Amino acid sequence: MPRIIIDCPTTGAQVPTGHRTQDFALSAVVEPRSFRCPVCHEVHAWKGEDARIEGAEHERASLSAALDSSLPN
Ligand SMILES: [Zn+2]
Repeated sequence: MPRIIIDCPTTGAQVPTGHRTQDFALSAVVEPRSFRCPVCHEVHAWKGEDARIEGAEHERASLSAALDSSLPN
């Protein structure tokens, strides 16, 4: 299952949030979630609009499809 990634605001690196797309729909993440960055070891907050699905950076259509399929309705 693809990982959910964000851009580290400190280093600009793509870092995994520790969540996967099976956990929840990105569009449902409206409250910031915090995690400890594995690259710079600081705590970052992220929301669904900040995040991407790993491997889908250049395929926004795939991202949308993944979100649609993960929604309960
Ligand atoms: Zn970081």
